[in-house]
Order: sequence, then structure tokens, then C-alpha cells
Amino acid sequence: MKEIDLIVPVYNEEEVLSQFMKRITETVAQIPQYTFRFVFVNDGSSDGSLEMLRKFHEMDDRVTYVDLSRNFGKETAMLAGFDYADGDAVIVIDADLQQPPETLHEMIHWWEKGYEDIYAVRINREGEKKWKEWTSSLFYKLVQGITKEQIYPKAGDFRLLDKKCVQALRELRETERYTKGMYGWIGFRKKEIEYSADERAAGETKWKPGDLFKLAMDGITSYSTTPLKIWSYVGFFISFIAFLYLSFEVIKTILHGTNVAGYPTLIASVLFLGGIQLISLGVIGEYLGRVFIETKGRPPYFVRETSKDPEKKPLKNSQKESVK
Ligand code: UDP
Ligand code: MG
Repeated sequence: MKEIDLIVPVYNEEEVLSQFMKRITETVAQIPQYTFRFVFVNDGSSDGSLEMLRKFHEMDDRVTYVDLSRNFGKETAMLAGFDYADGDAVIVIDADLQQPPETLHEMIHWWEKGYEDIYAVRINREGEKKWKEWTSSLFYKLVQGITKEQIYPKAGDFRLLDKKCVQALRELRETERYTKGMYGWIGFRKKEIEYSADERAAGETKWKPGDLFKLAMDGITSYSTTPLKIWSYVGFFISFIAFLYLSFEVIKTILHGTNVAGYPTLIASVLFLGGIQLISLGVIGEYLGRVFIETKGRPPYFVRETSKDPEKKPLKNSQKESVK
């Protein structure tokens, strides 16, 4: 029997976890042709989430939990999920029941048809705050425009990934993760399906407006060097204009003489160029920061506790290499 692992990142979700567990077990009970396992990744919750996960594990031996040493963010929590899952396929699903578990049927259907990455696109955004809808659509336009990397705007992390995709994602161990870009980058056969998003069953969204800006920066700088390169063009263009302007001034002075003018233009050009220089410095800083973080080569996360038998814990691909 094929095994499907559900990866659930959990950050302060004590209010919804029982409800989630109930819905999801009901759903998988309708699909007896597969063995299901649940891999909960506790991403440094400060509420009672971990205790609940321990209890789930005691009651149901299909439940595995991985407790990270602190809050690493959803992107990294998902990586931990990929590392600890060992099914023939995994399904990434949020704990808040915004993504209806019933979509699993369709995902599995397409997986059996030979697709390796079946991602669910949300067709409505019920119960989402206006600012979030607005900022996230702006965000995707921006990232898409700059990176040319194929990102599917409404496709989130709610997807079924074949074992092959999971192995590929395990190889990408950068700390500043932008998983949505990775799904596209690794390739494999993709299939789009639709789901209508529900309201959060309980609790609050973990997103802050600033997070989206950070994600946009991660998205752009991990998949594109355009922001680095564009400044030479801008600089060239500005110098060219400045040269034309200078020629104009010289000719004008020769023909008509000059009075002591030019103070406003001087200030304007100094400020303008100063601004451009600061922006380009910032862009370089953004990349340099990433290089700095990645060259430290730190592991993306640490595990405090897991219900998984350490003997059976799947090795990361790189560790397998070194064992050989
Ligand atoms: N999450 C996490 N770590 C974080 C933030 C969120 O593991 O630092 C989990 C959270 O518990 C939930 C999922 O990621 O299962 C999606 O989070 P949320 O519902 O807050 O995001 P939204 O649906 O509003 O985009
Ligand atoms: Mg949510």
C-alpha cells in the first residue's frame, strides 16, 4: 500500500488543532486505499500546541511530531517536514483548515495519473483581510516581473508532492527560503487544481505586513540578479542626460554669457544622484547579506524533540552520500 504523509506546520495553533485532527482523520478514513501518516512540525509555538501534538501521537500512532528549537518560520518548518516525511508522496497543508482537506481526493487522483506536483490554486479569498489581498497581489506581480521565474500567483504551499520532488526540495538547504520559487525551479510534472479557501477555523493569522515585504525580498533576491545589474544601466542613462545638459550649458554660456545661476540645478542633481547611489548600495547590501548568511553554512533548523524513532529518521540526501 502506498504511503502519503501530510506535513502540517504548526505555530501557536492550539485553538484549531483538535478540530483539524478531527476533519483530517475523517477525510483520510474515506481513502482506505492508502496509508496516511501525519507529520506535524511544531515551529516554536509558545502555547499548548506541543502538548496537543504529543497527545495526538499517543492516541494515534500515525502521528509524528517534530519540535523545532524555536520559531523558524513556515518556510523552514516545511523543510523540516520534508526531511522527516518518508512517504511515497507528501501533502503540505496548514493547520487552520483554510484549505479544505476534501481536496486530497482530487490531488491523489492526479498523482495516480502520473503528475508529480499537484498544486491547489485558491479561487476565492473568503475571510481574508483587504490589505493582505492587496499586498499579496502586488507582491506576486513584482516578483514575477523581476525574476522571470515561473511562479503561480495563487498557488500556495497546499500541494501534493511526489517523493522525487521531496528529495529535490531536501537538497535545497538555504536558510533564507522562498519555497514557492523552489517548486517551480525543481521542475517535475505539474498539475493545477482549484479549491475555495475557507475562513480560518480559529486563531489569528501569523502574518504581519512586514513579513510579506521580507518574502518579496527573499523571492526577488534568491531568483534574480536583475536588481544588481539594473544600476549600471540607470547610471549610464543619468550620466548621458547629465552630459547633454552640460553641453547645452556650455553652448548657452558661449552664446549668451552667464549670470550666477545654476544653484537649484546643482542641488537637484546632487540629491538625485545621492538617492540613486543609496538605492544601489541597498541592493548590493541585500545580496551581500544573503551571501553572508548562506556562507556560514548553518543548518536551517534544530530539533528539540521528535516522536520519530531516530534510527528510522530518513537521512538527508547529502548524508546518504557521505555514508556511501
Ligand atoms: N506557520 C508556521 N510558522 C510561522 C508562521 C506560520 O509554521 O512562523 C504555520 C501556521 O501554523 C499555519 C500555516 O503556517 O499552519 C499558515 O499560517 P497562517 O494561517 O497564519 O497564514 P495565512 O493562511 O494567513 O497565510
Ligand atoms: Mg491560514
